[in-house]
Amino acid sequence: MARIPHVIAGEKVTDAERTQPVFNPATGEEQHEVSIASVATVEQAIAAAKEALPKWRATSLTKRADVFFNLRQLLKQRTPELSAIVTSEHGKVLSDAAGEIARGLENVEFASGLLHLLKGERDEQVSTGIDVHSVKQPVGVVAAITPFNFPVMVPLWMIASAIACGNTVVLKPSERDPSASVFIADLFREAGLPDGVLNVVHGDKVAVDTLLDSRDVKAVSFVGSTPIAKYIYERAAANGKRVQALGGAKNHMIVMPDADLDGAADAAVSAAYGSAGERCMAVSVVVAVGGVGDGLVQRIADRIKDLRIGDGTDPASEMGPLITREAKERVESYVAGAADEGATVVVDGREQEFAETGFFTGVSLIDHVQTDSKVYRDEIFGPVLAVVRVDSYEEGVQLVNDHQFGNGTAIFTRDGATARRFEFEVEAGMVGINVPIPVPVGSFSFGGWKDSLFGDSHIYGPESIHFYTRSKVITTRWPKPDQSRVDLGFPSND
Ligand code: NAD
Repeated sequence: MARIPHVIAGEKVTDAERTQPVFNPATGEEQHEVSIASVATVEQAIAAAKEALPKWRATSLTKRADVFFNLRQLLKQRTPELSAIVTSEHGKVLSDAAGEIARGLENVEFASGLLHLLKGERDEQVSTGIDVHSVKQPVGVVAAITPFNFPVMVPLWMIASAIACGNTVVLKPSERDPSASVFIADLFREAGLPDGVLNVVHGDKVAVDTLLDSRDVKAVSFVGSTPIAKYIYERAAANGKRVQALGGAKNHMIVMPDADLDGAADAAVSAAYGSAGERCMAVSVVVAVGGVGDGLVQRIADRIKDLRIGDGTDPASEMGPLITREAKERVESYVAGAADEGATVVVDGREQEFAETGFFTGVSLIDHVQTDSKVYRDEIFGPVLAVVRVDSYEEGVQLVNDHQFGNGTAIFTRDGATARRFEFEVEAGMVGINVPIPVPVGSFSFGGWKDSLFGDSHIYGPESIHFYTRSKVITTRWPKPDQSRVDLGFPSND
């Protein structure tokens, strides 16, 4: 069985002491094992990043940009291969895997514009004979810690901008689907990135804590579940690092009485069950306003019947398995408990049968969900859609605003005034108007509010340039020697 290696200073290295199985979720079989890094291995990766830093930060912007132009081409050419890797370890269908690569490419394209992005500011004659300018310099060695659900896109959210800004990186991807990161590191190398600028270590809490405690790591980007995001934020901040830690979600989609119900049902099904609901921007709650509940639930149930669930490598499959057996059991336990919490299980995913033996569960639709229930409060992270019924828009938006999470949200309506009011009032970082999964394009930044993000910086796009650079302001004066004199006063601006 192949052992998936770390990548440190361009070398593939493995830890013999600790390994973990990597499954094919569609068959349930172990297909590889992954090295789980020791403290010493992570320290080696940090040291490699530190060593590569002076040369990389001194590399011209045009040479840095070249790497991203080359990488873009390589990622496009190798998308089928990389999609197959994602599908075999994550389980999502091939077209969905290709979709995440395309969205990750946006971050590479953004980074290739680094000459423009890193431009400083200049003010001439701020005082007589004095000019001021600012520059953006890298923060240093950066840690990127990523979740299982987007093994290509989320690492690219972080590493593209971090590297473009002149930093060097230690990436700690999810140990459940680690191969994509090694593939990406290989592509970066082929694109011309010097060894040591991007290092990959696989592992668990031991690896993460080593990164969080290292004095040489200056910034931490994290995406994952909320309890871990909070932990990362607190520990990294206590160690004086800048940190952005994106957490979980419970995304509400409000359907107004004037919405096109067929369109809303299409959107709800696509956004709830795509990638088996293992998306932080999945719609997990539909809020049916003012009597649309029956018609909407019927339409969603009708569409569910036709969904094809199966091995992600089969082009006919629309939805694959969950990531692990534990994830399947956890998701199904919510469906099992829903009726006792006062809800109506309209479609029960546990009753669907599959030819495959992997970690499959069917899609579930749960109506009349109570807002004090676990099905409503918790992030289930599986193909389970809850429907809550309310009488008015005001009640709907209050639900979104009262929820612990504030990642994405959407409203479906034909009325511009309602949409505008929603945009103004709703407490979430990303809002869709008749768009169920409003993931911002790469030229904007991504991030939620409340317990969906710890830190004040959103990820990728313009905010990433701010996050991955330190600004330096330089005040300049070139006086003639005969103008020099002693002056104990505070410098004035005359
Ligand atoms: P996770 O929190 O279990 O793991 C994320 C990373 O943290 C992994 O690299 C993992 O190895 C590491 N980790 C796990 N336990 C740790 C611990 N005790 N100490 C230190 N590090 C630890 O998340 P996951 O299951 O891989 O991913 C799913 C979660 O990620 C969901 O909650 C989802 O909403 C969230 N997510 C959020 C976004 C977003 O943008 N907000 C995007 C994608 C996924």
